[in-house]
Amino acid sequence: MSAADVRITGGFWAQRQEVNATASLRHCLSWMERLGWTANFDRVARGEEAPSAGREFADSEIYKLLEALAWESARSGDAWVEETFRSLSARVVAAQQPDGYLNTRFGGPGQEPRYSDLEWGHELYCAGHLIQAAVARARTAGRDEFVEAAIRLADHICEAFGPGRIERVDGHPEIEPALAELYRVTGDRRYLEQARLFLQRRGTGTLDHGEIGPEYFQDDVPVRDADVLRGHAVRALYLSMGAVDVAVEDRDAELLGAVTRQWRNTVARRTYLTGGMGSRHEGESFGDDFELPSDRAYSETCAGVASVMLSHRLLLAEGRPEYADLIERTLFNVVATSPDAAGTSFFYVNPLQRNAPGTEAETDRPSPRAASSQRAHWFDVSCCPTNVARTLASLSGYVATTSDRGLQLQQYAEGTIDTRLASGDRVRIRVETDYPWSGTVTVAVEEAPGEDWTLALRVPAWARGRARIADATGAERVVEEALAEVPMSAGELATVRLELPLEPRLTLPDPRIDSLRSSVAVEAGPLVLCAESVDLPAGTSLRSVAVPADAAPAAMADGAELAGVHVHEGEDPWPYGPAEAAEPDREIRIPLIPYHRWAERGPSEMRVWLPRLPA
Ligand SMILES: [Zn+2]
Repeated sequence: MSAADVRITGGFWAQRQEVNATASLRHCLSWMERLGWTANFDRVARGEEAPSAGREFADSEIYKLLEALAWESARSGDAWVEETFRSLSARVVAAQQPDGYLNTRFGGPGQEPRYSDLEWGHELYCAGHLIQAAVARARTAGRDEFVEAAIRLADHICEAFGPGRIERVDGHPEIEPALAELYRVTGDRRYLEQARLFLQRRGTGTLDHGEIGPEYFQDDVPVRDADVLRGHAVRALYLSMGAVDVAVEDRDAELLGAVTRQWRNTVARRTYLTGGMGSRHEGESFGDDFELPSDRAYSETCAGVASVMLSHRLLLAEGRPEYADLIERTLFNVVATSPDAAGTSFFYVNPLQRNAPGTEAETDRPSPRAASSQRAHWFDVSCCPTNVARTLASLSGYVATTSDRGLQLQQYAEGTIDTRLASGDRVRIRVETDYPWSGTVTVAVEEAPGEDWTLALRVPAWARGRARIADATGAERVVEEALAEVPMSAGELATVRLELPLEPRLTLPDPRIDSLRSSVAVEAGPLVLCAESVDLPAGTSLRSVAVPADAAPAAMADGAELAGVHVHEGEDPWPYGPAEAAEPDREIRIPLIPYHRWAERGPSEMRVWLPRLPA
């Protein structure tokens, strides 16, 4: 099924797609024009010698914006979006060298030679993003000048990094999934072979690791021997995407098994409640097992985007609903958290706790990547805004899957799906829902295949045993399994209704997560909730709030509420002693809002996990 088969027409995600289309795309472009990142291409096209503006990976931000524009042009047909894609991509193509090489940072007059800094230069990383943008364009509009330029670049890379040539890898994976995807679009196996070569070389020490060590680059262990994701989170996730792509195309069960093993262990031990990945600021990396501090969480927005892309590949490869569960959790609690309501400020890091209210980010200068306690307009390293933009523009690709047996609804959004099953039969359905604000999902089959088929609706793990499904006859049953399957007869036009229980629920952590011991969180449907100090009585700190052992969340229009207690803050000169000092002194209401909306009302303390008093 292609992204074009699905249209999201209303509700939570349609609104975000609209803001992305009308605000975020222009916002990203205007910052990159202003900072000279787009002009780098014009300078290279003129053959001028000058320092490049921005960091060594600035080219990739233009490419991710181009990818977002390509998806968005297909989604909405907006004239400004299409014209901007054409004009911006023409500036990129003009900077390509006769042999296909394309990078504004290396290889030109007065610049370091090509491929002289594979560890940190990001040349193949940037090339990968260019190719991904071209793949999006080829899938939505066919082969144009930009796609042809990407093919010339890929040909150059296969030449430069083929057997007997530069037998090394890029410090930042990304070229691997890009080449595998280009193979899917062109059918040229050379790209798949080169992707496989890059994967095989990783973990064999072809990079100079310096002080940061091999794990940061996933160069410590070959991909197929690793048991868990480690090192720089975005790098680890992009590499895994490439490994799945190559494994699927080559029917390499061992390689696919290695990634599913790593995914399972990473989700079980190294993932936040929000779906966020990468707990350490140091090296933007995964921590040890169960090292998941809330306040020092890195949980980069890009790692959330990458996790969604990896899980989507695994869902397509194996069909297991847990992949779609994690996609949903991460979309609602990491991807949706990054942009503000206006679509012009973004979170780079996504901590689950903010101990000090912090300050507003500067509006006229890029922010340091992780320092902002509020969303920022742009960053010195600004990978996240364009990554959010391309994800929102291509979101329809995550909604449904097809198999030999029928169609599976994986994510819930109001819209239509018009596609063909594996049999070639056409099926058209309409989904009506106000999810995640309502748990009712109504699916009307408007055009049915000419043979019997199965409509399946994913039931998230938190809903199993409580969700109910009503088939075409109105007969209702409780769903215990991860996919609620409804057998459909040939030609039958029917309506199916799924009811997901959205009442707020308490969530407890694995006791091995030290930083969360004796804490509780509240979730409602797919949404993680959080408390913000702006909702507490004036002068009350979230540090002084706890939850009684028997507390139960009550549903509120905007989220939930917990009946908590205020704990006396002593002025002890030494914060340790033989007995617990703090005693509750009064009751306090703790309002909880969706985590994705935190920090929208100015600087505030914030907590997802609240301390729970002993019984
Ligand atoms: Zn990022």
